[in-house]
Amino acid sequence: MKIATVLRNDDNTREVARQLTEKIKGSGKISARFVDGTTEQPDLVVSIGGDGTMLEAVHQYGFEPMYVGIHTGHLGFYADWRPDELDQFVAALEDEQYFTVEYPTLDCQLETRDGRTRLKWALNEMVIRNTSLSTLVACVYINGQEFETFRGDGLIVSTPSGSTAYNKAVNGAIVHPSIESIQLSEIASINNQAYRTINSSLVLPKHHQIELIVMNPEIMIGLDREQAVWEDVRSIQCRVGARKIKFARYKRLTFWGRVHNSFISGETLGR
Ligand code: NAP
Ligand code: MN
Repeated sequence: MKIATVLRNDDNTREVARQLTEKIKGSGKISARFVDGTTEQPDLVVSIGGDGTMLEAVHQYGFEPMYVGIHTGHLGFYADWRPDELDQFVAALEDEQYFTVEYPTLDCQLETRDGRTRLKWALNEMVIRNTSLSTLVACVYINGQEFETFRGDGLIVSTPSGSTAYNKAVNGAIVHPSIESIQLSEIASINNQAYRTINSSLVLPKHHQIELIVMNPEIMIGLDREQAVWEDVRSIQCRVGARKIKFARYKRLTFWGRVHNSFISGETLGR
């Protein structure tokens, strides 16, 4: 098994990574090879850090490998293991006692006014905002039909696993990752006699499409951790991604258990 690691940039994380590498190499039962710093494709990517570290890992290694996360710091959504559980983690690797879960992604096609297109994907979400403090204006089309004209701070199109991130902060719904869907949520929409939006989050199934026709000459687009200013974007088409990200799960911690542990009270449920 070829293993790669992606680390958050801090001393504690590097120390956890050092201990883990030592334990895996010292195990007689695991035939593992670390491929960090080589061009070889890993079978398993271990992300050590936070949820942001996992986002970095999936964009670095893509859809082929399986991912597993160890959280250093507070509890992570994409991470199953605490640093004090390294022995159990290595034992689970030795016994190959994992099952895989696949999380849906988001596919976005950006089209500029001169007709060029770019394909992008996200595991958490795509966010669009104006580059200044003035309003973002975008016409929202659903499956080719005009739905509303949005005026406000921005729009988020999130995946199910991203629904607990930025989407949740704007009161979007939390969606179980087995529901292949995308969710459109508003950031501070203007709603008055002149301007009107639905003012609720919309959850769309597979094969449905959201198209945002952008009125601003330049916008900020965020895709997971990546953010950039884009000029002359005419439209952004979003749909449930064609590919999923595979996570190796070594213990049964349910999605709702994670939601509880993260947002209600500590690590008590689902272990
Ligand atoms: P960050 O500033 O560290 O992320 C903000 C928080 O979101 C962190 O606590 C992060 O956890 C957590 N997070 C990331 N993905 C999550 C998920 N799927 N479910 C629940 N929480 C999640 O920046 P980052 O680490 O680069 O993460 C990028 C993400 O931050 C974006 O994809 C976006 O969802 C989120 N974000 C949120 C807001 C907001 O809530 N107002 C604003 C901007 C961005 P860790 O500390 O473990 O990384
Ligand atoms: Mn982070």
